[in-house]
Amino acid sequence: MTRRIAGSLLAGACAAPYDRAVNATTFDLRPNPRPHTDADRHKVLENPGFGRFFTDNMVVLRYAEGQGWGRGALEAYAPISLDPAASALHYGQAIFEGFKAYRTDAGGVVTFRPDANARRFARSAERLAMPALPVETFVAAADALISHERAWVPTQPGTSLYLRPLMIATEGVLGVRPAHEYLFLLFASPAGAYFSGGVKPVSVWISEDYVRASPGGTGTAKCAGNYAASLVAQRDALAKGCDQVVWIDAVERKWIEEMGGMNVMFVYEAGGKPLLVTPDLTSGTLLPGITRDSLLTLARDRDWQAVERRISVDELTSDIASGKLKEAFACGTAAVITPIGSVKSSRGAWTVAEGQPGKVTMDLREQLLSLQHGRAPDPHGWVHPVC
Ligand SMILES: *Cc1c(COP(=O)(O)O)cnc(C)c1O
Repeated sequence: MTRRIAGSLLAGACAAPYDRAVNATTFDLRPNPRPHTDADRHKVLENPGFGRFFTDNMVVLRYAEGQGWGRGALEAYAPISLDPAASALHYGQAIFEGFKAYRTDAGGVVTFRPDANARRFARSAERLAMPALPVETFVAAADALISHERAWVPTQPGTSLYLRPLMIATEGVLGVRPAHEYLFLLFASPAGAYFSGGVKPVSVWISEDYVRASPGGTGTAKCAGNYAASLVAQRDALAKGCDQVVWIDAVERKWIEEMGGMNVMFVYEAGGKPLLVTPDLTSGTLLPGITRDSLLTLARDRDWQAVERRISVDELTSDIASGKLKEAFACGTAAVITPIGSVKSSRGAWTVAEGQPGKVTMDLREQLLSLQHGRAPDPHGWVHPVC
């Protein structure tokens, strides 16, 4: 007999349930009968790293053409079985998301703008001709899993519980068309502080040989194939002695787009205040990062200028050389903000801000982290209390 419970009222784990999601979606509860012992979990949480350990349970939902989304279940994290003809394995109908649950000083657990991840997940689905998962179901699934796995949310500064939602086409059919069956999974992985030894700037390689996204392509979708296509360029960057690849546009091969799986921002000065410049989204080739959007808003809240426009490799490197560019950083959920210390291409090498993390970069980083951990006022209602 399966117990059936509302999204955020699982297992009585929450002192203060988040009632917006209650009754929006319910999940069958078939939790792992053999979860980690407290001792084993504590051992993992001492040094979780990133993406190496997974909690005891996951949320599973299936979709069938004509029937829509079935009833979700929370069940043991375990390998799944797939028809070898499953179209995700052949034609790449596979999308994912990434966001985090944070422990607050008061001992609660919150997520940050999960509805924005849910909406982006739906847009990614749309681009790959997959069914959209309703935003409320996405958020309720996360609330349910996080509440159940509350003990897995680490407490040390800079740590979090990383949430990985994904959807794959499972129908076993070799015809090239949108599949009729899909599987949504959501699992969680404790994450250590990204920079355990202090924030360290990265070096970047501007790739002229490979393209991440082209107009009309899948660059705005968080789909598995984009990452598959990026790996060789990242390997190339490492071979050039750099930490990360920077992508330029596919058409003119001159405009800066992103760094690996993160957006980029450049810090100038205007009228005695910081001025942020970041590539705009109009080309339809950039992944619209939620961290990017949050930082633009935070900068404007502070009455700084934040400009979205094209910036060429030539402009960037000459601004670095002249000292006009003060700082550069990349931003995304996993590392929050990563300073860029040096830029290298086939045409030369440049050092940004003497290779040190810049003041504006570190300021914004601290502000965003404070907000995410519930330590700062939240005027935009971005912090979503879970339990
Ligand atoms: C996920 C991702 C980002 C960052 O998005 P966030 O919502 O800030 O985590 C940036 N670029 C690419 C290519 C990505 O896949």
